[in-house]
Amino acid sequence: LVRLRARLSRSQNALGKGLLTLLSREHLDDDTWEEVEDILLTADVGVAPTQELVGRLRERVRVLGTRTPEELRALLREELLALVGTDLDRTVHTESGLDTPGIVLVVGVNGTGKTTTTGKLARVLVADGQSVILGAADTFRAAAADQLQTWGERVGARTVRGPEAGDPASVAFDAVKQGTEAGADVVLIDTAGRLHTKTGLMDELGKVKRVVEKHAPVDEVLLVLDATTGQNGLVQARVFAEVVDVSGIVLTKLDGTAKGGIVISVQRELGVPVKLVGLGEGPDDLAPFEPGAFVDALIG
Ligand code: GDP
Repeated sequence: LVRLRARLSRSQNALGKGLLTLLSREHLDDDTWEEVEDILLTADVGVAPTQELVGRLRERVRVLGTRTPEELRALLREELLALVGTDLDRTVHTESGLDTPGIVLVVGVNGTGKTTTTGKLARVLVADGQSVILGAADTFRAAAADQLQTWGERVGARTVRGPEAGDPASVAFDAVKQGTEAGADVVLIDTAGRLHTKTGLMDELGKVKRVVEKHAPVDEVLLVLDATTGQNGLVQARVFAEVVDVSGIVLTKLDGTAKGGIVISVQRELGVPVKLVGLGEGPDDLAPFEPGAFVDALIG
């Protein structure tokens, strides 16, 4: 948590600082409110949430009259928190069945950080004392299985893989079967993210999920989204959400962007909570998403 705050605030407090400075002006005219909107849109908060937030801020600042910096900060914090949502279920569910492991599917467009996230998540679970099996069901990107296996060796999780360009669903099934036989606590499955056509993706991912579910229930479908791709990433995310029941979002590369507002727009778009954030390429650079720390980092 402390780490999340420190790491985010380095790149992102421009947003909050800018807003606080603007709201501190003695006279807030339409131009000022437009500047507030611009800051929020630049940070990828999204059009509808921005308008909502500005409407509420306008009203509250008007009621407040004279404003101290502390009052402004508190008001901004409250409104941003309300927008981010404080009562969403942000637990990554990995509950195993009586004799089946907990199962997590990791989905998303290639390059967003799926494999890296799968490796980092394995590390968190292993550090928590759980035994983890990795399923390399991204059989289309040639290096993906090697990359995942390297992560597995690094964190202490065995990787189940199939032939190159093989059937992703059969690798996923194998991973779950082997995980069950080995009495593993959790099986994490890294899937392919080719966005060639929606039906192609649907066939592929849908099949992975169906095949796995023949064996054991899927506890969590994590959609990995690259925070630096902004609103384009959102369009792609929506396609995935239409294909599989996404239960949580992992927002990666939040270390490299001042566009933290994407948290708000993606939750709004998909109706699914951000559960984890990626803050770098290293094994410890995955953190639970915590709204309070996040908003504090935004405000600076
Ligand atoms: P995949 O194709 O979705 O499996 O993507 P990869 O896991 O191979 O990641 C693509 C690139 O993004 C790699 O160079 C990763 O090291 C990098 N990456 C992944 N997550 C993060 C993150 O949170 N922050 C940063 N800065 N880089 C990341």
